[in-house]
Amino acid sequence: MQSMKFDLHVHTSISPCSQLSLDDILSQARKKGLQGVCITDHDTMDVRRYINEGIQNNGLCVIFGMEYATQEGDFLLFGPFERIKLGLSAADLLNNVLDKGGVAVSAHPFRFNRPTSEHLIKNGLCTIVEGINGRNHQNENDSVASWENLYGVRQVGGSDAHSLEELGRVATLFQQPIRSRADFIDALKNGRYSPERN
Ligand SMILES: [Zn+2]
Ligand SMILES: [Zn+2]
Repeated sequence: MQSMKFDLHVHTSISPCSQLSLDDILSQARKKGLQGVCITDHDTMDVRRYINEGIQNNGLCVIFGMEYATQEGDFLLFGPFERIKLGLSAADLLNNVLDKGGVAVSAHPFRFNRPTSEHLIKNGLCTIVEGINGRNHQNENDSVASWENLYGVRQVGGSDAHSLEELGRVATLFQQPIRSRADFIDALKNGRYSPERN
């Protein structure tokens, strides 16, 4: 079976806080041992204006998502959210994602200044969390285990890269081939995967 290693959380320079160019992501990701990258800029999927989604000429699989900010935490969204309204409450956002058949991942759920509210997880509005975030402190990542025990959340990993050095430091290993956004969403919902340091 073909497994694939994805960095699930990457910011291009479309995000005002990131120095990481799309060109560098495309040319360097495979050298860093990745087969796939999810572009998750802050509150936008504008990356679609620059490249095509899916398998690139060099074999790298690129999936378009976004990191959506709410007052109850940041969520990595995968699905038809190119024109999603910004500023929704977390509950409204997560219900919208479910309605549209997408997936939301709680980003860095225990980060001290951008945590995810526990009631969202407890109530089953979000069932996948970032178990390893490359920019978190170790204790912030370690805290995720408590939610796995309490709520049975599933875990992914992403670097949260804002620079080339950070790209691919953390990844998610999927036990199936992924060639498109639809494949990726299906894998998150139904597949087997685990977070790992790369
Ligand atoms: Zn964030
Ligand atoms: Zn981020």
